[in-house]
Amino acid sequence: MNSIQQIRDQFPILQRRVYDRQLVYLDNTATSQTPRSVVDAIESVYFNTKANVHRGVHTLSQEATDLQESTRRHVARYINAPSAEQIIFTRGTTEAINLVASSYGSMFENGDEIILTVMEHHANIVPWQLLQRTKRLSIKVLPINERGELRLDLLPSLITERTRFIAVTHVSNVLGTINPIKEIIALAHRHQIPVLVDGAQASPHLTIDVQDLDADFYVFSAHKMYGPTGVGVLYGRRSLLQMMPPYQGGGEMIEHVSFERTTFAALPFKFEAGTPDFVGIAAFDKALDFIENIGIEQIAAHEQQLLQYATERMMEIPGMRIFGIAPHKSAVISFLIGNAHHYDTGMLLDKLGIAVRTGHHCAQPLMTALGIEGTVRASFAIYNTTQEVDQFITALNRIAPMLNN
Ligand code: PLP
Repeated sequence: MNSIQQIRDQFPILQRRVYDRQLVYLDNTATSQTPRSVVDAIESVYFNTKANVHRGVHTLSQEATDLQESTRRHVARYINAPSAEQIIFTRGTTEAINLVASSYGSMFENGDEIILTVMEHHANIVPWQLLQRTKRLSIKVLPINERGELRLDLLPSLITERTRFIAVTHVSNVLGTINPIKEIIALAHRHQIPVLVDGAQASPHLTIDVQDLDADFYVFSAHKMYGPTGVGVLYGRRSLLQMMPPYQGGGEMIEHVSFERTTFAALPFKFEAGTPDFVGIAAFDKALDFIENIGIEQIAAHEQQLLQYATERMMEIPGMRIFGIAPHKSAVISFLIGNAHHYDTGMLLDKLGIAVRTGHHCAQPLMTALGIEGTVRASFAIYNTTQEVDQFITALNRIAPMLNN
């Protein structure tokens, strides 16, 4: 494995100074930073091969199409999908979930039920609520225990003969909890219920094997995986994708158009209307290379070390409250210091060069369940170091007395 310094050298932004201090970037859950190889790939497409995909016979168009389709095959390998046709490019996790809710959800009937969990990101709540504008659907919610783990024991009692769908996050963006997705899917499948897994926080940190999980839908975003913004992935079970109506209409997604009758393209293009972000998609290939060159297990092991070290040191700080203490968790630490407002803590940390996220983290129902308005969240990636954790702890120790007064 490369040394962490060699890895850091690939990220020019990590050299930045903020308020005349070395930046410590601990907002990786919101978006990760991008290595030079990915940005070089973007430049290379713009300067060498930019042409619209799937439309031209000319060389540039064919090269641009090859780059896009090669990333599709790479993504399929990355998550062990049975075929590249089951990989649909979207703008991100949010669009992928909206696609499934809108398209698969159009087949729901009045009186049907879907199950979500209380720790879902708004991206996995609101698209399902939008369906309720046109259909009488009920949404049931699986709660969590005091450690921030799903109450799996309650799941069977939420399932009825009207349950049509379960949508659940693989890893919580607030609590860090890694959910027992395989078990949830197995239980759902015993009742013939399909499951969508929101993998936005899992794909940068865990090995994803959609066949082993037996997931029906698995979605994630490139920008959280050291990749470009504007690119996301929807993996779907072939039989389900085939039966689903198109999500958006336009170019690229048709077979034949007339004013009387239009027929649609085969998978995956049926779901990819319009010009995709083919530049970003080409660059995403390099982000996957970046992860694979280090190895996802090595990335996870490094982040787990940082998580454990940071958690231990934080617990020494008077008044520290950590939300999410599942033994099986990803490198995300949500916290509050005493009764201090999360925003004040985040602002003071920023003045010391430390970038953390504050607020409800697009998980307001979870905040309500925890009885708080928001948290401060520190989250780690492969390029973070123990020294950065030390800087973070020093900063917390410095600001805690001010906040607790
Ligand atoms: N789901 C989870 C668990 C997330 O953490 C996020 C983003 O933070 C999203 C969905 C939405 O991702 P995007 O904004 O890339 O669509």
